[in-house]
This record gives sequence, C-alpha cells and structure tokens, in this order.
Amino acid sequence: MQVFKFGGASVSTTERIRALVPIFHQFRDQQLLVVISAMGKTTNALEKVAHAFYDVNRDAALQLFQEIKQQHLQTAGDLLNTGYAACEEQLTNFFTEVEWLLHDQPVQSFDYYYDQIVCIGELLSTAIVSAFLNEAGILNQWLDVRDVLRTDDNFRDANIDWEYSALKVNQVVNPLFSKTSIVLTQGFIGSTDENESTTLGREGSDYSAAVFANLLDASAQTIWKDVAGVMNADPKCFPDAQLISTLNYTEVIEMAYYGAQVIHPKTIKPLQNKSIPLQVKCFLDTSLPGTLIHNKPVKDLPPIIVWKENQVLLQFKSKDFSFVGEQPVAQLYQTFAHLSLRPNMTQNGAISFTCVLDDNPEKMDELAHSAAGQFEVTVEKGLSLLTIRHFIPELFEKLSAGKKLVLKQETTETVQGLFRSET
Ligand code: ASP
Ligand code: MG
Repeated sequence: MQVFKFGGASVSTTERIRALVPIFHQFRDQQLLVVISAMGKTTNALEKVAHAFYDVNRDAALQLFQEIKQQHLQTAGDLLNTGYAACEEQLTNFFTEVEWLLHDQPVQSFDYYYDQIVCIGELLSTAIVSAFLNEAGILNQWLDVRDVLRTDDNFRDANIDWEYSALKVNQVVNPLFSKTSIVLTQGFIGSTDENESTTLGREGSDYSAAVFANLLDASAQTIWKDVAGVMNADPKCFPDAQLISTLNYTEVIEMAYYGAQVIHPKTIKPLQNKSIPLQVKCFLDTSLPGTLIHNKPVKDLPPIIVWKENQVLLQFKSKDFSFVGEQPVAQLYQTFAHLSLRPNMTQNGAISFTCVLDDNPEKMDELAHSAAGQFEVTVEKGLSLLTIRHFIPELFEKLSAGKKLVLKQETTETVQGLFRSET
C-alpha cells in the first residue's frame, strides 16, 4: 500500500488531469490511497467567498461562488462523457450545501464559516478526478474523507483525533480495498464529532496524506509536484539551486521549521513515527528521480538556503530591570501559541527577549498589546531573514553582501542573519 498526494497544480487544467492516467498506469496492481487538493487556485477563490459572506455581502459571495461553480462544471464537461451526469449531480449537491449557507446570516466565528465553505474545493476536485479516472479505466473508489478523518473543532487549524480516525480507517477504508485498488479522497479537510467540516491549515494536504500513510501502515508516501524534487534553495530566488536526491526526516523538518516551502511541516512526524519513506516526484516528468526522504543519516548535504521576507523584529525588555527568565518567556510562548505564531529566530538576554516572526499585522498588534504590561515592546518591520544550514562562512558573506545586518545567530550547523533593506 502506498499513499500518493497530488497538489492543486497537478489538477489545475484538463491537460494535467489527463496526464494523471499514464502515471497511474505505472502503478497498476498496486494498492493506492490517493489524496488530492483543490484545483489550481480554488482555495484562494473560496477564501474570498468566505470573506464576502462574513462581511455580509451576500451578492458578492454568491457571484464569486458562481464563478467557481462554472469553472468546475466546465472542467467536468470537458473531461467526462458517460460519467458526466452522475458527476454533475454530485457537484450540484456540494454547490447546494454552500449556497444554503451563503443565504444565512453569519452568527458564528469566521473560522467556522471559512471551513464550511473552503472545504468544498477538495470535494469538487476529487469528484471530478475520480469520475474521469474511472472513465479512463483507472478504476477507483471516491471517499468523503470527512467520514474518516475526525478532528477537534479548532477551525482552520484542526487537530486530528488519531484514535477515532484509526478506527474509521479500519471500518471504512480497509474494506474498500477489498473491492478496488485505488481509493481517492480529499486532502486538507476533516470533520468534527458534530459533522461540521474542518480544515487542517493551508497546504495541509501533504499532512492528510501522511496521516493516512501512518494509519494504513503504508510502505511509502509520494508527493507529486511540478518541480524536480526538493531543492537546496528556492530556484526563483537562487538560480543555482540544486536538487537534493536524498534527505532525512530531521533535515526536512528543520528546513520546514526555518521556512523552506518544501513540505507542510506537520507531514514528517506521522511518517517518522512509522519509518515510512517519503518521495517527492515530478508529475510533469515521472522519469526524473526526485527526492527520497527517509530516517537514515545523510552525508555531504549542500548548504540549504532559506530566504524569508516580510519579517518583524520584536524586542521585549523588562520594564523594571528584572531578569527575563523562565516565567516571562513561558508567558510569551503561551501568547505565541494562543495566536498560532512561531518565531523564526529568538535570542534571550538578561533583561530582554528578542524574536523574529512572519508579519501578520493583526497578530503583531495583539502580541505587542498583551505583552505591554510586563515589557517595553519595540517593533521593526520590513526585514528579511536568511537561514543557511550546513553553511560555509563564505556563502553567508556572499549572500549578505550589500545588506545591513541587524542580528546574527550561529550554531555549528546553522547560521541566521536578519537584514534591513537599505533605502
Ligand atoms: N487546497 C489547500 C490549499 O491550497 C490545501 C493544499 O493544497 O494542500 O491550501
Ligand atoms: Mg496546494
């Protein structure tokens, strides 16, 4: 049993959906649990619907949703023949669910409505892709993942209920594999014990796939992407970026931690816990070797470079000169957790604590506000953070040339530099 994850880019056009057929032919006779994201930029479009609804702008919400409906009907129409009518009915049921909601007045939290609306993207894409593959002879069974993956009601960042989900995998998913070799389902979404839809955080489909890999004791997980594999830097910023053919879980989790947009950071733990190898492969050219991630040590890694813009430097200084020890820092970390913030770099001094975070104006205000009683808080925005793992000092110098260094931190493994752009 293997788990495959196809992201939004792999199903963004009818050509790309058709191109899935030869990929599945390569894995004929294997049991596959396939997790698919919403098509292209559908999640962003649905976010706009949720915002319009919550701003009590019903016409705009319905209009924006109408466009999403049309696109999916068009895609289904282009791809399907005999299966069109049944698929259209399935899509229409999903559309109706959302439209009913859009006719209501918002009375609950934004995050709750967000999840009820945004989850539809994955339901629509999987309904279409499943029907298309069945018509193309790749027989598969569509599954509503909300019947299997149970979460808490922490909307927009829901947590998996592992025990209940494991039970459901046994009851629902395993029996399906006695009838079909491919079970096709949604990434990114789940449901509460009250059957409310939830989402697991943006880009969460990698994580959904890992949850399934863990619960099914899969032999491997493959994430199919539009790039050759995991690179040591973002090729858009660093043209010399090179492919890394083998990595281990620790490296990937560290890369994700420092902000490399490789794989959703939550993905590694469920795989690591059961030593399930993760492959990152290119759906545009399946002959490329891709990247293999496992739990064995890897040697001779190239420097791994992460460049993050839009960083905020926050400095918390104790007002009465008392030491910033365990307790005040613990309190700050509680506030971070409460706001779902994760510092990209921290430094602790005798009477001050410094941290660098991704800018999120609302959360920054709330953080500064809640710390203001105890600390003198200073905020500087518009900074950039460079992180290099397995660095060589010359590379750090080269990449920081011509920039104003504000803060630097170095361990034997990793160097980080925070820069102010000079105007
Ligand atoms: N469709 C969701 C998103 O765009 C989940 C995913 O793609 O992993 O964030
Ligand atoms: Mg995506």
